[in-house]
Amino acid sequence: MPETPRTRDIDVAVIGGGPAGLAAALGAKRAGAATVLVLERDRSLGGILNQCVHDGFGLFLYKETLSGPEYAERLAEDALREGVAVETGAMVLDLGPDRLLRVNARSGYSLVRAGAVVLAMGCRERTRDMIGIPGTRPAGIYTAGSAQHLVNLRNLRVGNEAVILGSGDIGLIMARRLTLEGVRVKGVYEIMPWANGLERNVRQCLMDFGIPLRLRSTVVDVRGRDRVESVVVAEVDDRMVPVPGSETVVPCDTLLLSVGLIPENELSKRAGVELSPVTGGAVVDETLMTSVPGVFSCGNVLHIHDVADWASFEGFAAGERAVRYAAGERPSGRTVRIAAGAEVRYALPQTVRAGAAGVEWSFRVVRPLRDVRVEVRGRDSGKTYARRKFGRLLPSELQKIKVKAEVDEDLEVGVHV
Ligand SMILES: Cc1cc2nc3c(=O)[nH]c(=O)nc-3n(C[C@H](O)[C@H](O)[C@H](O)COP(=O)(O)OP(=O)(O)OC[C@H]3O[C@@H](n4cnc5c(N)ncnc54)[C@H](O)[C@@H]3O)c2cc1C
Repeated sequence: MPETPRTRDIDVAVIGGGPAGLAAALGAKRAGAATVLVLERDRSLGGILNQCVHDGFGLFLYKETLSGPEYAERLAEDALREGVAVETGAMVLDLGPDRLLRVNARSGYSLVRAGAVVLAMGCRERTRDMIGIPGTRPAGIYTAGSAQHLVNLRNLRVGNEAVILGSGDIGLIMARRLTLEGVRVKGVYEIMPWANGLERNVRQCLMDFGIPLRLRSTVVDVRGRDRVESVVVAEVDDRMVPVPGSETVVPCDTLLLSVGLIPENELSKRAGVELSPVTGGAVVDETLMTSVPGVFSCGNVLHIHDVADWASFEGFAAGERAVRYAAGERPSGRTVRIAAGAEVRYALPQTVRAGAAGVEWSFRVVRPLRDVRVEVRGRDSGKTYARRKFGRLLPSELQKIKVKAEVDEDLEVGVHV
């Protein structure tokens, strides 16, 4: 007869021990949860921060600049000191009805029954297959994050001459990292007319090292049998189609891809959580609760963050709200929907309970803009609920706008000149 698995009853269970998950656990504990458990599949806490050895983390949360591992250590120490229970090497396999988690851990298979669950599983990188780069399939092609792991955690050299496709932050940071490791970075090629990473990363990681950034261009071929020998790059037109005759062969032995991040939501999907086709993360209300009651979401699994501090702040908020749900508080009232208006790619949360006040929206724009006003307006009444001026808005920068008043109709967050 099969053995009955060990079952634990927990107030708030957090899936993922990166900055968002650790902050969620701390938030729940500080808000009064008796039992909070973080389940992390890796051998250590910290998530992606562990491979980000450069500094610049924690300016908002700790008011100092830390490396990724220092930031992770600080959060993990705070969580443990305040009584958060942690299980590493513990992969959550499934989130079932009534918030029952199936967990495969070093200690064996077990079940966790949670009063509330916080999803904080982070994201993964887009790969060559997902963007369909033609050519041979030799060694020497890495996602920027896997190269970051090999260089920073395994002390391995990934090549001698590199081309980077995509100007996301990880690609920019790796351009500098590889240069410091003695690799010749021949250029960063970006299909859009603007850089996709933060401006400070373009300055500090490319310009300071004389690494060229080629906008409106892409890799159209990879050459080499066993190892990459060269890539062919070409300019693209306004429809992002390669321009015939603009091809250039760039000799290199390494191609790094920094072409986007995807929230890791397989678990959420199986649990019936409604996902947004725009963010790839859950659709949430102002408490960061998903469409499945008692299941909250934060950090990169909800939407991609450019600064780890924002993922942590979102984690604190999700943890605080999760403990209130676990204690029996239930949302009530009509659901108000929020749409992305002119020039806005998405606004989050996507729903709000009618009557909620002081709600803050995160949003991203679709293209760089100057001297604009962002407004939150009632869709029926046309009433302006909030207005904020921006000298400059970039798609790479997550922005915020807050509505102080009570919300009682469907809204739109849009850009106005
Ligand atoms: C490859 C990569 C490199 C990055 N480099 C930088 C950088 O250099 N600088 C920077 O500012 N930002 C960087 N970022 C952005 C960074 O990810 C975020 O700022 C921040 O780490 C997001 O925190 P998080 O907690 O949401 O996710 P993560 O840090 O990714 O943490 C998620 C955690 O969930 C765990 N997990 C996932 N699924 C399960 C499961 N089923 N069961 C148990 N545990 C699970 C994972 O193992 C992981 O530890 C990088 C992101 C990626 C993907």
